[in-house]
Amino acid sequence: MARVYNFSAGPAVLPEEVLREAADEMMDYKGSGQSVMEMSHRSKVYDNIIKEAEADLRELMNIPDNYKVLFLQGGASQFFAEVPMNLMKNKKAAYILTGQWAKKAFQEAKLYGEAVEVASSADKTFSYIPDCSDLDIPEDADYVYICENNTIYGTKFKTLPNTKGHLLVSDISSCFLSEPVDVTKYGVVYGGVQKNIGPAGVVIAIIREDLITDDVLPGTPTMLKWKTQADADSLYNTPPCYNIYICGKVFKWIKKMGGLTAMKAHNEKKAKILYDFLDESKMFKGTVVKEDRSLMNVPFVTGDADLDAKFVKEATEAGFVNLKGHRTVGGMRASIYNAMPIEGVEKLVEFMRNFEKENTK
Ligand SMILES: *Cc1c(COP(=O)(O)O)cnc(C)c1O
Repeated sequence: MARVYNFSAGPAVLPEEVLREAADEMMDYKGSGQSVMEMSHRSKVYDNIIKEAEADLRELMNIPDNYKVLFLQGGASQFFAEVPMNLMKNKKAAYILTGQWAKKAFQEAKLYGEAVEVASSADKTFSYIPDCSDLDIPEDADYVYICENNTIYGTKFKTLPNTKGHLLVSDISSCFLSEPVDVTKYGVVYGGVQKNIGPAGVVIAIIREDLITDDVLPGTPTMLKWKTQADADSLYNTPPCYNIYICGKVFKWIKKMGGLTAMKAHNEKKAKILYDFLDESKMFKGTVVKEDRSLMNVPFVTGDADLDAKFVKEATEAGFVNLKGHRTVGGMRASIYNAMPIEGVEKLVEFMRNFEKENTK
């Protein structure tokens, strides 16, 4: 069996232990004589799987009782629309633009009401997080929206914006479970799981209970109304059963690793190895302001597109895959999510060091 070091931004690397366990249970899940893929989502055995997944997530993130956990479909992109549909009572919301995903959410919100740009780092190709300590937020804005970890550009909010009493909605797709969070600071915190948790096809949304109501925008589809999903404990219709089962296994893996505090230490250690090298290298450069660097997504360049291409090609041949930067940005990007082992980053840096030596005259 030859496993590569997979630096994909998403779908991304999963813990080997989880994949092995899933393989072992493929033909017969715990004596049920069925794969989880084949069983009814209304069965007792499946009910245990989804309930346990929720309980483990609640424990990991210390989610208060007045927040609902929903397992949804449609990806984070579908959720861009669900936010205004469910929250835009005044038809106005404030958006902080720190990259493509924030921009897409912003554009989606414009379909439903007035989306106001209150800060942006577009002036420097999203290489930093703007100062959000004193923003001009419209009094009647229904919420303030951020993309907390910018998967494409490699920046992360280290402090949350001052929303001046407004509700905070945050997309944490690419930093989900990478470190402890204080859920009480958010009205809604959500993410697609395919970056740091499980197989594509599930969005996990953690929503303060009082925000889940029948008072949604007219025309909101039944499936996209949070109340529908909350009332049915995420089983209004057939959920992505197997994917939720894998998420549940990843939750258990994180618990075994020591929870989110341990995960953060593990991620900081990994990121430091790579960033330290980028800071010392004469060939490779990080593209992001130091203070705002993401622990999860690390973009870098050589400054020479041909050399970048050569690097990506040779890295791939050496078993370091998916290092090509996002198609809109170029260069390279190493996504080093929870499941990326330390050795993966150490070996990548060793490979980069050698590449630099061989390609410097
Ligand atoms: C990948 C990503 C998305 C889009 O996710 P889909 O599930 O493909 O819709 C949105 N936001 C962030 C931060 C992402 O990393």
